[in-house]
Amino acid sequence: MSSSEPWTEVIRHEAARRIVRFLRYHWALNHALALMHWDLETYMPREGVKDRSIAIEELSAEVHRIERSDELARLVEEAEKHLDEMNDYERGLVRVVARRVRIARSIPEDLVRRKARVTSEATVVWAKAKKESNFALFKPYLEQIVEIERAIAEKLGYEEHPYDALLDLYEEGLRTRDVERMFSVLVPETKRILEKIMSDEFYPQKHPLEEAWYEKAKAQKLVETILDHLEWPWSRGRFDESPHPFTIDMGVYDVRITVRYEGYDIKRVVYSTMHEYGHALYELQQDPRLDQTPLAGGASLGVHESQSRFWENIIGRSPWFTPTLKKMLDETVGLTKDVDVVDLYRYVNTVRPSLIRVDADEVTYNLHIYLRFDIEKKLIEESLSVDEVPETWNQYMEKLLGVKPRNDAEGVLQDIHWSHGSIGYFPTYTLGNVVAAMIWKTMGGPGSELITSLRLRDIREWLREKIHVWGKTYPPKELVSRVTGRELDPTALVEYLEWKYTRLPDKIEEVLSK
Ligand code: MG
Repeated sequence: MSSSEPWTEVIRHEAARRIVRFLRYHWALNHALALMHWDLETYMPREGVKDRSIAIEELSAEVHRIERSDELARLVEEAEKHLDEMNDYERGLVRVVARRVRIARSIPEDLVRRKARVTSEATVVWAKAKKESNFALFKPYLEQIVEIERAIAEKLGYEEHPYDALLDLYEEGLRTRDVERMFSVLVPETKRILEKIMSDEFYPQKHPLEEAWYEKAKAQKLVETILDHLEWPWSRGRFDESPHPFTIDMGVYDVRITVRYEGYDIKRVVYSTMHEYGHALYELQQDPRLDQTPLAGGASLGVHESQSRFWENIIGRSPWFTPTLKKMLDETVGLTKDVDVVDLYRYVNTVRPSLIRVDADEVTYNLHIYLRFDIEKKLIEESLSVDEVPETWNQYMEKLLGVKPRNDAEGVLQDIHWSHGSIGYFPTYTLGNVVAAMIWKTMGGPGSELITSLRLRDIREWLREKIHVWGKTYPPKELVSRVTGRELDPTALVEYLEWKYTRLPDKIEEVLSK
């Protein structure tokens, strides 16, 4: 029994077991949906989308139906009576499923359908509006989306701010006041550090390698080399190509990442690989006994992002990784033979206030998120109208980053997220950066021997036993405080940036000559 159902080793209470058994079909549907999404983004012939989107819609409706079912609600209610008899896994399971049931049952069917209809049209209109750089086309859709999201917030309920309800959908327990507190520290401190970086000129705004072209086959070899170096388990994982890099998993035994090859600026391939590797590692290192249960998968989007950012920035962009990176680049892509390690380090750490979020460096990134958060919050509380969004956006860009979009395409229309109805999602990116820095600090900060000696296997083990192994057992805030001993702490990110960007340059030669 335990070999085919390993979860029975940790989920022992009968009331909790009934929930897992009831959700077996739900799990299988999600497994199929994940594979269908992966295929849609990678190898499906373009016209396959005609049938695929309908099949996805039908299976998703079935997933939703199960989550709304009276039977599941009854099983959860019954299990909640026995919480004091349960272990952490069982209590976590009941919490996770109760939350899903509450969300599924609070939002009425017609609102779900309306959102699906409006956002599927809005996504098409957004693409056209962006192409023509014409916000007026997208405006009526954004108005409807804001109205729908406001209605959803009302149905879900909240204590302080309607935006709380939307944030919570993406990040369990995160509140508007938490996000405001993070940015009240990060915005002024980032601007201060940024000014220093600009006047010091150690970290360049531009590097010639950004315009160097590479061959795709060589870049593929590079990705393979990086993954091999990180001891990627090829029997449980793979990498493929897609227009937007992502990670998806079909459980702990099948985790997939994708890469995009733009043809120039090879560091983009390096860091999107390391970013997705961080996401993938979280899934790969989970306790296999949680597989096939609602506890499988990361604690939240923010905690997931902390893992990707940790590998991408804190490991991958550190000077300790640069010599390894140089060797890997020299042996595969070969544009770096005449570039010394200090210069390579500067190339992968260019800092440039720019218009586009996805191109932003680790210093300026959170300023892009702050402006989106503030606009979303104001739209939801109705202190800003959709009409005013483009102008507000441009003013913020100038105030925060000193750059001003020339048109809507490089301003308010750059992200697809609002057309999907994802309002409350962006803050999880900054949360990820903050949690990654808190982990760095917990590992010892600038003097962390794990990081300065690049003990990758020990780092993986650290992350595995403290974070990955738990899946969704603990709510994200609780997990973070168990791991770091602190509440969400934006000053850890300030400390990290301050150290790396204002103090490290003075001893970079010494660090890199070791
Ligand atoms: Mg990510």
